[in-house]
Amino acid sequence: MSITHSIVSVLNLKDPHLHFSEDCVSSQSIRGVDSLVFSGSLSYDPPSSCPLCGSSNPGSAIIKHGTKSSLITLPSVSRRPAYLRLKKQRFLCKHCGHTFTASTSIVLPHCFISNNTRLSIALDAKMKTSEKDIAFRHSVSHATVNSLLQQLYQDFKVQRNFLPPHLCFDEFRSVKGVDASMSFLFLNAESGQILNILPDRRMPALIRYFMSYSRKAREAVKTVCMDMYSPYFSVVHHCFPHAKIILDRFHIVQLLSRALNKTRVNFMNQSKPHYNKLKRYWKLLLKFEDDLNDQDFKKWVCFPSLMREIDLVHFLVELDPELKATYELYQSLLTALNRKDPDAFLQACLNPDPLISKPMNTAIQSLVERKEAVINALTYSFSNGMIEGTNNLIKVIKRLAFGYRSFIQFKTRILLISNTLVPCHFLN
Ligand SMILES: [Zn+2]
Repeated sequence: MSITHSIVSVLNLKDPHLHFSEDCVSSQSIRGVDSLVFSGSLSYDPPSSCPLCGSSNPGSAIIKHGTKSSLITLPSVSRRPAYLRLKKQRFLCKHCGHTFTASTSIVLPHCFISNNTRLSIALDAKMKTSEKDIAFRHSVSHATVNSLLQQLYQDFKVQRNFLPPHLCFDEFRSVKGVDASMSFLFLNAESGQILNILPDRRMPALIRYFMSYSRKAREAVKTVCMDMYSPYFSVVHHCFPHAKIILDRFHIVQLLSRALNKTRVNFMNQSKPHYNKLKRYWKLLLKFEDDLNDQDFKKWVCFPSLMREIDLVHFLVELDPELKATYELYQSLLTALNRKDPDAFLQACLNPDPLISKPMNTAIQSLVERKEAVINALTYSFSNGMIEGTNNLIKVIKRLAFGYRSFIQFKTRILLISNTLVPCHFLN
């Protein structure tokens, strides 16, 4: 096996016109870092026609005309930065008098970063790692990584004539460079695939965006699962004529538990003797009653005798009739949610005990106002669980980079890491 063949296969350089000699590998300091440098040459017979004037070669109009050296960044070898010092053949066209350089598939014209390095950066951008680390690992600048991400983003195409039948809407805290405080994302509720991420979650922006889809695509949407953010309701009514709104069950529970918590805090602040008990065991009050432990007697800090969890909760609830009525309503709503019983849920909301607290009353009023969406939450199996997972991923990505300034860059990383954008076709 010749030395050229060995080096070409080790470095994965697929160009038949590369040549390496015996002593082509050396250790050199490049930008102050000890690096491996492979010295090679690129040469082939003069091309049959001139790329500038188009004249053909039979009369030897194009001849070899010296060389030009360039230093190309390669992916690191054994964790050492690696470079290719490539002597490229120059050609002269006698016809037009212009000179040009031999071209190669290992690097783009006027670029000093090999295509292998670019692909490696793109693949690293799919990992949960910061851009700074990627730049360091590939001995390139942060700006190079950013511009590569921008090129990758150009591959992200949205099909305006198709939408899946079931969607999920959600939002996340955006980056500094965006006017809106919250950005919007929506996914396919069945596959969990991200469909798009928009900088602004406000109604006019969303309506403008969704109206850019074809009418057929919008009419194909059957359900949209979302939280209680009211502009989303208008967006769905406006853009998806056949879609049913599903309130996310997690958000319904969150609304109810917040209301119960407020009730507890209000009573706690008035009740001096039981302040500590009400403050300490807040979590037990929010628990679904069937999940409370009714077997084991345990010691509790604020109580002298051994008690079961269920006794403790009953003790707290019995302290105040308002708290008791609110707690009982909360529990019956949780039961209906768990059993997926829309009738029982609505019945409980429509005929509440007059003693229930104000915050709980407001909460159930807002649920009654969105009656259909609540019923759908209990009839359909879709929920925003998938999107909350994506939201966690977004938080991780943001933290890795210590925040992002550019929304597009942030979006590109989210799309890459969530496998929505595949970088393989970015190199040709
Ligand atoms: Zn020419």
